[in-house]
Amino acid sequence: RAGADMDDAIHFFSSGMHTGLGQRLTIEAHLRRALEHGELRLVYQPKVTVQEQAVIGFEALLRWDNPALGAVSPAQFVPIAERSGLIVPIGAWVLEEACRQMGEWSAQLGRPVKVAVNLSPRQLYQKSLLDTIRRCLAQYQVPRGSLELEITETALMSREEEVDVLMHDIRALGVDLAIDDFGTGYSSLAYLKRFPVSRLKVDRAFVRDIDRDEDSAAIALSIVNLARGLKLKVVAEGVETEAQLAVLRGMACDEYQGFLFSRPLERGDVLPLLGR
Ligand code: C2E
Ligand code: MG
Ligand code: MG
Ligand code: MG
Repeated sequence: RAGADMDDAIHFFSSGMHTGLGQRLTIEAHLRRALEHGELRLVYQPKVTVQEQAVIGFEALLRWDNPALGAVSPAQFVPIAERSGLIVPIGAWVLEEACRQMGEWSAQLGRPVKVAVNLSPRQLYQKSLLDTIRRCLAQYQVPRGSLELEITETALMSREEEVDVLMHDIRALGVDLAIDDFGTGYSSLAYLKRFPVSRLKVDRAFVRDIDRDEDSAAIALSIVNLARGLKLKVVAEGVETEAQLAVLRGMACDEYQGFLFSRPLERGDVLPLLGR
């Protein structure tokens, strides 16, 4: 990889979060070839219990390194993949790679390793999704209860009937469902009664100031209590400090993810963390 290219890429992408049309088209053109060129990989962020900081599973997160663009953040390329439809083949690859990895780790460890995979709304509306999930589970002999799919509230807002049927079909395969970025969407709470979810993930926006801002703490506490009332597990996202963790412990939040325990890990670093 040429150093000059990297410098350009960093300059190109550091000019702010806004992605202009030119940048979008450039990213899309490179993203189109990313799969076949083997430029995508998954990293795995541990999910741990709040009380004991015991690792209970991982969230798979996409990483993309392109020779011309450098490392592009998923916050930037996932929306482009979503809009262009590229998220469908990319998302299928993510599912397959996560299941393959779970099979490998579970065999080496002698017990199941749980992994959560993010799903885009666009994937949810594809007829082929259920078959893709079924095929991956069978091919890599993923035990029931080991794979979890993270879906945002926004994804549940349209095509409710269709999504409802799909979610029940997914559950029937022994796959768990989590609501990601909970509290940031526009949906009503009615779907919590309707859809068979087992976990709520409190968005990082409410965790960031949880130890300093009463409103953030009040929102986080309501989500934790809501989850408890509905007998759902609740995970706090983006925990970076002991002070934030202490507040979550006081709320009896079940689990957390965040830089405090670990950044997302390269796949080779996962088994050593689990004591192998
Ligand atoms: P998300 O699913 O809500 O993932 C959590 C994001 O928070 C990840 O960013 C993770 O690295 C970051 N994070 C975790 N702990 C901390 C912390 O303590 N502090 C801070 N500041 N950040 C933390 P990442 O990996 O950049 O992913 C961003 C988003 O891109 C994800 O948000 C998800 O919406 C999307 N994404 C990532 N991988 C995939 C994928 O395979 N498929 C789909 N459809 N979307 C993906
Ligand atoms: Mg997620
Ligand atoms: Mg999230
Ligand atoms: Mg988020």
